[in-house]
Amino acid sequence: MYFNNETLLYLDGKFVKANDSTTNLYSQTLHYGYGAFEGIRSYETEHGTKVFKAEEHYERLKKSCELVKIPFNYTVQELVEATYELLEKNNLKNAYIRPLVYCGQNMSLSKPTSVSVLIAAWDWGAYLGEKLLRLTVSSYCRPHPKSIHIEAKVCGHYVNSILATNEAKDNGFDEALLLDSDGFLAEGPGANLFFEKDGKLFTPQFGNILPGITRSTVLELADELGLEVEQGKFTKEDLFQADSAFYCGTAAEVVGIASVDDCQFPTNWNDSLGKKLQNAYSLLVRDPLKQNHFN
Ligand code: PMP
Repeated sequence: MYFNNETLLYLDGKFVKANDSTTNLYSQTLHYGYGAFEGIRSYETEHGTKVFKAEEHYERLKKSCELVKIPFNYTVQELVEATYELLEKNNLKNAYIRPLVYCGQNMSLSKPTSVSVLIAAWDWGAYLGEKLLRLTVSSYCRPHPKSIHIEAKVCGHYVNSILATNEAKDNGFDEALLLDSDGFLAEGPGANLFFEKDGKLFTPQFGNILPGITRSTVLELADELGLEVEQGKFTKEDLFQADSAFYCGTAAEVVGIASVDDCQFPTNWNDSLGKKLQNAYSLLVRDPLKQNHFN
């Protein structure tokens, strides 16, 4: 699904066949989750294939590495260029792009001995599907921000996301919703949360969430549409009393939420602010001219 005999990867400045690629089994990333990654999408537009917010994603990758002291020996620009070249070589247009900074052989809990950067890309449709999501509040909370750097997209953090997703699916739901360690609304396993109440939007503030690039795009679009958004600390009860809600993320894009623990949102999704933002997002990612105007 992710690669075939022809697929090329970008690895440390070279393009190599995915089929011929190997990794060191004593990698610190493999054993301890000590690595950082990104999730980026490209879209086919009238002006050719465009990687959405490529610079922002590679800046976040750099920041993630800096926060966890993994040397980042690349410029954002060279990785953006490598991404475009990779898409072209693999003949990909609407793709999902996965950069990964991973560490070499070192079985100690110490600084990495060597670091590599891999970029893979593949065709990927809607990550959470097209239909409205049925969420459940997870029994797992997001990691405490004093245990890890919550604002970094670090490989090992995603065990928390996998546990929450598996629990939700095992209990018959589509996706999990995680609270922070103080019991306030945080985010999904791979997406940020927004909800609507009385014509206004609300979203959890920074501190216990990944600062999503889609979240910031949604904030820009909301501003453009003249919608009021409050960032703050909110409870589960705030969400249960909301009119509608949605998740947003690079892979998920903007996706409506039908219910949380079978408590249905009253506003029809098609009449919600989320639907307006979903449409605006879908147009923006396919319109490079509008993106220039935004930047
Ligand atoms: N939260 C988490 C935990 C995520 O993994 C993601 C996906 N990167 C997001 C939020 C959304 O971030 P973005 O919009 O930058 O993809």
